[in-house]
Amino acid sequence: MSITENITKIRRSLPTGVTLVAVSKFHPIEDLQEAYAAGQRIFGESRAQELTVKQKALPNDIEWHFIGPLQSNKVKDIAPFIHLIHSIDSLKLLQEVNKQAAKNNRVIRLLLEIHVAQEEAKHGFTPNECRELLQKISLADFPNIRICGLMGMATFTGDMHIVQQEFRTLHSLFVELKNGLFKEDEDFKELSMGMSDDYPIAIQEGSTMIRVGTSIFGERKY
Ligand SMILES: *Cc1c(COP(=O)(O)O)cnc(C)c1O
Repeated sequence: MSITENITKIRRSLPTGVTLVAVSKFHPIEDLQEAYAAGQRIFGESRAQELTVKQKALPNDIEWHFIGPLQSNKVKDIAPFIHLIHSIDSLKLLQEVNKQAAKNNRVIRLLLEIHVAQEEAKHGFTPNECRELLQKISLADFPNIRICGLMGMATFTGDMHIVQQEFRTLHSLFVELKNGLFKEDEDFKELSMGMSDDYPIAIQEGSTMIRVGTSIFGERKY
């Protein structure tokens, strides 16, 4: 199937209120152009260098999302244009995003990445670390960022029961914060979970944003 057909098929299957982020990392610009022609305007990338090259080459009405591990020294490269950073996993990174957003006279939207998977390799705060962080900081000290929700990845496993449990853990933290600390805050509304192999389960478990690469573009090319 072509990129256009894949996108159309996935979009048709999505309930209203679920946003599709087309994960275009390691795919050439022509593939992104095809997705753009099919109406896709939200793209996710995981490397600052690759993202800035693509951002310059493609139309201005694209919303670029950063989804991968982000080094503090790369924040300045994406700060002028990034629409949403999904992968904030330390206070240091939060501070750097606030600083670079201020330099660009912008407010940058972000998600806190939560570690719910069994693999050590995955990034993010544990649910308790996330609660502690939010208690420790005052959002008034970070005028140039908006915390818009949470992001997480399930364990890479064929056991969909494990995946479902992890998405439930993430969703319940999301609901807790939404009804608690962020009760008066209408920006806090996104739960980014679900990739090619597990997005139907993620949607069942309350995802508002899925990040799909392989099922749109095929295997990554470089
Ligand atoms: C690569 C990546 C995706 C997309 O994965 P697919 O399995 O290709 O859909 C989603 N989220 C993150 C954080 C990624 O790094």
